[in-house]
Amino acid sequence: MPDLRKDPIVGRWVIIAHERAKRPHDFKGEAQAQRSGDGCPFCEGHEAETPGEVAAYREDDSAPNGPGWSVRVIPNRFPALKMEGSLEKRGDGIYDTMAGVGAHEVIVESPRHHISMTELDIDTIREVLWIYRDRLVDLKQDPRFLHGILFKNVGSAAGASLEHTHSQLIVTPIVPVSVWEEMTGALEFYNYRGRCIYCDMIRQETETKSRIVCRTDLFTAFCPYASRFPYEMWILPNAHSSHYENIAKASVEDLGTVLSQALRRLENVLDRPAYNYIVHTAPFDHQEQPHYHWHIEIIPRLTKIAGFEWGSGFYINPVPPEDAARQLREALESPGSNP
Ligand SMILES: [Zn+2]
Ligand SMILES: [Zn+2]
Ligand SMILES: [Zn+2]
Repeated sequence: MPDLRKDPIVGRWVIIAHERAKRPHDFKGEAQAQRSGDGCPFCEGHEAETPGEVAAYREDDSAPNGPGWSVRVIPNRFPALKMEGSLEKRGDGIYDTMAGVGAHEVIVESPRHHISMTELDIDTIREVLWIYRDRLVDLKQDPRFLHGILFKNVGSAAGASLEHTHSQLIVTPIVPVSVWEEMTGALEFYNYRGRCIYCDMIRQETETKSRIVCRTDLFTAFCPYASRFPYEMWILPNAHSSHYENIAKASVEDLGTVLSQALRRLENVLDRPAYNYIVHTAPFDHQEQPHYHWHIEIIPRLTKIAGFEWGSGFYINPVPPEDAARQLREALESPGSNP
């Protein structure tokens, strides 16, 4: 059973996950990606090699845990947190600890051995985004759980251990510190100005244009003004909304378009870099929040976080976001490209 342990000085919770060290690695080195899918547990026909599915979009006559699916959600075989158990907090001398209760699921984005989300057709990307919503709606019913973080690791430099395109959901009994910091900062701005800082950001970025990567009626992708990392990108819904799981079907169509474009631009400019994306959304127990605005952060893993960053919390970004955005904007403008 994993433990949650709290740092008594800064209040940060750490997951001590005893079993994670046993995870498999199928990376043969970034240069020779294994496109065959031999022995890949996420490929169609290998359903028996994974834990039983918790959700899937399937052909009507297909049975669970067999072929016939387009998107499939399974528990992580090596979970950072486990579903069983209660939440009692215990003291351990001067420290606080609690059982590592939570959910850790894998969203397998295609029955075929694609290694990038950009190889999927747009309808499949939309299905992935819709099943994210389904899983949050389902897991927030459990009163032990407070927050869900959806994320994607692509490439071993970004922490992926299997290359078959997939994303993950970790639902936690506490609000992660990065979401808490964003909510606290956004609330301060709201209390002072009476507006959502993220809505203001979209307004200013749309006027300034220099950091915009792409946009639709419903979503905007841009390089944030204080980007921590080269080619960092955020995607925000243009209309205010604090909870990802409240997304409408029509919005998912647009989000699929913007996300797929943003990732294709990134792959084009940086030659398929390792990257993470993270969906930041408000905690489950809150109603619609006027100050918090859900978003996706895309972080290419080009630079290693070094001593100064670890030690100080400062980031040194060698690529101005205005230059990054210009390159990303121009990336798909060649003749024959298909935006
Ligand atoms: Zn596969
Ligand atoms: Zn907003
Ligand atoms: Zn965020």
